Order: sequence, then C-alpha cells, then structure tokens
Amino acid sequence: MFLTIGTTGTQERPATDLGFLLHKHPDKAQAFSTSHGSAHVFYPEASAERCTAALLLEVDPVALVRRGKGKGKGRGGAPDAALAQYVNDRPYAASSLLSVALAAVFKSALGGVCRAMPERAASPLPLRIEVPALPARGGAELVHRLFAPLGWERVEATPVPLDEQFPAWGDSRYVRLVLEGELRLADALRQLYVLLPVLDDAKHYWVAPDEVDKLLRAGEGWLADHPERPLITRRYLSHRWGLTRQADQALELVRLAESDDLDVDSVDNAVDESTDTEEKPVPLAVHRRTAILDALRAAGASRVLDLGCGQGQLVQALLKDARFTEIVGVDVSMRALTIASRRLKLDRMGERQADRVALRQGSLTYTDKRLAGYDAAVLSEVVEHLDLPRLPALEYAVFGAARPGTILVTTPNVEYNVRWETLPAGHARHGDHRFEWTRAEFRDWAGQVAERHGYTVRYVPVGPDDPEVGPPTQMAVFTRATETGTTTGKTKEAEAA
Ligand code: SAH
Repeated sequence: MFLTIGTTGTQERPATDLGFLLHKHPDKAQAFSTSHGSAHVFYPEASAERCTAALLLEVDPVALVRRGKGKGKGRGGAPDAALAQYVNDRPYAASSLLSVALAAVFKSALGGVCRAMPERAASPLPLRIEVPALPARGGAELVHRLFAPLGWERVEATPVPLDEQFPAWGDSRYVRLVLEGELRLADALRQLYVLLPVLDDAKHYWVAPDEVDKLLRAGEGWLADHPERPLITRRYLSHRWGLTRQADQALELVRLAESDDLDVDSVDNAVDESTDTEEKPVPLAVHRRTAILDALRAAGASRVLDLGCGQGQLVQALLKDARFTEIVGVDVSMRALTIASRRLKLDRMGERQADRVALRQGSLTYTDKRLAGYDAAVLSEVVEHLDLPRLPALEYAVFGAARPGTILVTTPNVEYNVRWETLPAGHARHGDHRFEWTRAEFRDWAGQVAERHGYTVRYVPVGPDDPEVGPPTQMAVFTRATETGTTTGKTKEAEAA
C-alpha cells in the first residue's frame, strides 16, 4: 500500500519544509509498527525545488486474520478457512488500513501542529498526492464527486486495468488517484484519512462508537457542507445506521452553527470583554459569571455542566475553585470548543486538573445519557440562540432527561436594550439571537418549565437593576423539588432509591 505526498518550493521557501510539517526528516527512512503491519516513511526526492514523501504500509495478512477473530473482516466476511483471507489485495491496495497508518504516522501533521513552522502549517501549500492503487467502489466518477468539492485543482482517477497484457478483461476496481492543488497539508491529510476508507467501503477493523468522534474531528472544516456528506458518513461508519445518524445530526448542527456568527462579536460581549481597567464599569460578562458562581456555591454543587459553554470562559472560572470537582463543557460548535480548549490549555494541563474537566461536542436538543447525574447545569446566554420551536426539545433534554439538582438559565432582558448606547432601536444584541425576552416573557416560560418538570424557580437580576427596564441580564435559578420539599442541589444517593 502506497501513497506519496509531494510539494514544490524555492530556495527561500524550500520544498523540504515538508519534512518539518510531517515531522519526518527527509534524510532518513523511518519505520513504524502499526496495528496492521509496518509503515515506512521515506523521501524519493528531497530538494529545495521538489520534495516528495512516501508512506508505504506492509500489511501482514496472516496477522490480520488472526487478530480479526471473525470481527472486522469487512462486510460479508468469509468463513475461517477461506483462502481469500490470506490471499487478497490487502498488501498493496490503499484500503482503510492505509488510512489508519496515515493517522498514526502523521498524527501531528493531521492535527495541523508544527512548532517549528506554525505559519507554514497554517497556510496552503502546492501539493501533489498520488495513490497508485486505490480501491474505489463507485469508480472514478465517485472519486471526482468526493474530492472535487474540496478545493483541488486537479482530480484525476484513472481506472487500473485488471491485466495490462489482456485489455479485453477490462478494468479492475482500482484507480490511480492524483490530486493537485493548494491546500493546507493538515486538511489534505484529514480528507484522505476519511475518504480512503469511504472509497474502499470495507472497514477492516471493528467500528466502535468513538469512530463518530474521529469522523467529526477529521471532518472539521470540510465535511459538514460536503455535497456527498450522507454517503461519506454512511460508508465511513460501515453502514451502521445508529452511528451514521448520530454523525449526521452532529454535522448538521455544525453546519448550522458555522453558518451563524458565533457569539464572539455580540454587542454585550463586545461591551463586556473590552477591558478590565478599574475606571470602566464592570463588564456584564463578569457580572454574569459572578452571579452564576454565587448561585452554584449556594446550591452546594460540585459536579457542574456548562451547557453551550462557547469559548470556555465559565469553565475556566469554575476550574479556579476547588469545590467544583467535575466540570463538563458542552457545545455544538467545534470551533468554539477548539478555542475553549486552547484557552484552558487542555493539552498542557496537569493530570489532576485535567481529571476535573472535559469538553464535549453535542447538541442540547438531543437527550444525552452522559449528562445525567450532575449536581447543576448552567445555560448561560444559550436559549436565545435556539429557534423557538426547538426550545421544547432542549427543555426535555435538560429538565426532563439530564435533571440536575440545580439549573441556571441566563438570557438578555430585551427591555434593557434601550439603555445600550451602541444598539440601534429594535435590534437584538447579537445577530444570532433568535429571540430576546422581556422579564414577563422569561418568567412565563421558566414558570411553565418548572411546573412541567418538578422544579421550583426564583429570579436573580444580573448587572445594574434599572428601576424602569430591569437588569441587562436575567437569571432563573431552578431547584429540583423532592418529596420532602426542595433539595440543596447536592446529588443525594437516597433520592434515587
Ligand atoms: N455560555 C457561553 C456562550 C454563549 S453563546 C457564555 O455565556 O458566554 C451560545 C452558545 O451556545 C454558542 O457557543 C453556541 O454554539 C451554543 N449553542 C447554540 N445552540 C446549541 C445547541 N443546540 N446545542 C449546544 N450548544 C448550542
């Protein structure tokens, strides 16, 4: 199995920089052992003008069969004694195994990480990728449909004849793939990582639920709005319907979230985060976090969900207080989560801190078993980002299914908008706000939700409480009612009994 990645350069920007980006030195041939055989990386050419890296995977078909133990032989796995298990195309065709090796050997490059030359890793390079024998169910035509929308200038898929001596035998199911274009190396690698197994359409290892996460990660930035997305997710997840549906829902939400502006430029945040010098009024976001932290402490919560955590400011504040022993941030937007993870320096965090915190991608309009059993959940400036008809789904997922002891919901008070000097009359504070509520509207909604799900609710003004129009932010504090009255918000084992 074979794949080459080439680039061109000049004396000032030598093509051999590819070695840095791939984290593999052009002068050395290196071998790695992967779960399916040994992978070799070497450079057939390496000059300032042209540099090509080759990845060769030697598959051990016997080991593959032994390890497989009947699992993961691909669809329609042959009976144990079948010769086909031992004599097959695995050793040379660029199947899903090559994709697994690609991810293992070029892990940092796939993640776009390059300490030595971050700016090179972040910018498009002239790339040429060649896969001499690519199994392609769906043929050259499908190869085009998959790669053409991804920014390649040249996508060439030439059918490989079954036997060159006997053209009458026709073509094999392999194509020779050549891709040329200016892309970021990480994007190109992530596309290959997903699309090689999609074209092969027979995964040779067990498809586990974490494949959905892998797909979402590798698909970041290109998969959500790919015209062949349904085929890609279906095939990548080996036609497992449940997983495919899960991935499709997540991707659909990513697509929606990314077509919206995130809250980054919202008027309240722009006002909020602009500065923290003393003469300036305390930013509203700070008021909000203080009010939230106070309410969580008063409730005695230690395991906390930050639902719609955005870029992780609240998670960061929670981490500073040791009483919060488990903090989970959830957001639908990968982009926000990436920023949050950078802000928290998750990759460099000590083990003890890292054990306290997790960031997860997910949508609050779908129930998620992993969110059950927490002391408290925060929805800070989130509800107004949902279309009103989707709100009952969030209500059910949070109040009905996750059911933490305490739930805090903050949202803008639209009555206060007249006090924002920078806000034209009648405008919402942020382009992505689907609605903004008056105090009465918010209380009407919150009261009904509390009643439907067995919570009591009280209201806390956040920010300067204007005598006429009320505070800029309104917060509802929901407390789950128990048989004996109201709970403190602490999870009590007894309650479950
Ligand atoms: N809680 C943060 C961010 C608020 S912005 C703060 O107070 O600053 C709203 C956030 O909700 C965004 O990050 C958006 O991606 C997220 N969001 C919107 N709809 C969502 C949904 N259905 N599921 C999960 N997160 C969602």
